[in-house]
Amino acid sequence: FGGLPNFAELPPPKLSFEFFPPKTDALEAQLWSCIRRLEPLRPCFVSVTYGAGGTTQARTHATVARIVKETSLTPAAHLTCVGASRAEVDEVARGYWDAGVRHIVALRGDAPAGAERYEPHPEGYAYAADLVAGLTRIAPFEISVAAYPETHPTALSSDHDLDNLKRKIDAGATRAITQYFFDSEIFLRFLDRCAAAGITLPIVPGIMPVSNFNQMKKFSAMCGAGVPTWMGRLFEGLDEDPETRRMVSVIMAAEQVRLLQANGVDEFHFYTLNRPDLVYAIAHILGARPEPIPPGFPRP
Ligand code: FAD
Repeated sequence: FGGLPNFAELPPPKLSFEFFPPKTDALEAQLWSCIRRLEPLRPCFVSVTYGAGGTTQARTHATVARIVKETSLTPAAHLTCVGASRAEVDEVARGYWDAGVRHIVALRGDAPAGAERYEPHPEGYAYAADLVAGLTRIAPFEISVAAYPETHPTALSSDHDLDNLKRKIDAGATRAITQYFFDSEIFLRFLDRCAAAGITLPIVPGIMPVSNFNQMKKFSAMCGAGVPTWMGRLFEGLDEDPETRRMVSVIMAAEQVRLLQANGVDEFHFYTLNRPDLVYAIAHILGARPEPIPPGFPRP
């Protein structure tokens, strides 16, 4: 694949940001300060996750509803199949539609803590593809789904996993957002495999800025994202130096995006972890500049 292009020649890419719903008042304040900082960058949409096992249903809904009411942003609500009947999931989805939410990120979700493996609810949607089909029967939502450049950890094979992505798209999804990855060549090969399988919809790479390398390594082992050896060298000796780590992280993510842009990718989804600074700096390097918020949005 190609090298890094001339920075000045590339237009700013399309951006979207992911947040998680806060558990405490302090975390709520942190989330909203993050949203306010990133809002002027005019992302295509912002998404709000759904806690493992549906544990944040009310908080996800409250956060998404507040984004609709109080910001100029277009929210996407994550929704999972875990631990709920189809009727219950459908009711949550209808609630989103009634609250003005038009975009759902449809996921299977993971087994609840303590359970050995994922078991579908007896009356539930078994897999994300089933949930996508269910959502299309409720309302004309825009539907995004998850994709795994390094294959989902419990998939039978990478081909099965790609078939599954195809099923989700055939069921009505219009975009896939990927698990984060650090080896861009793996993602580009994945795009080739998707194209060969006839998948023509956008596969948006998930970009994870690394603020704490050691934590990231542990987390990546659980979700099947490879951590290349060169990353260890990049963050070597910085365990007690968060400031330098952050600067390194910004440059690393900006280079990753630039390399992907040079290979034709023009849309990126950032995992913010409800902290705006790294993402704001990366977006700035990529050419994004704050724009005035359009009039008519109630401000708190
Ligand atoms: P699916 O697409 O259903 O696939 C799950 C696994 O089952 C795959 O291995 C697939 O190959 C296999 N499979 C699918 N269909 C079948 C079948 N018929 N028979 C046998 N095997 C099958 N989790 C949360 O709890 N909340 C969130 O908000 C959240 N947001 C996420 C956002 C993104 C962008 C990503 C990438 C992941 C997110 N996750 C979230 C994690 C996700 O829930 C887990 O990765 C989960 O294990 C799989 O979800 P999925 O939607 O990819 O499942």
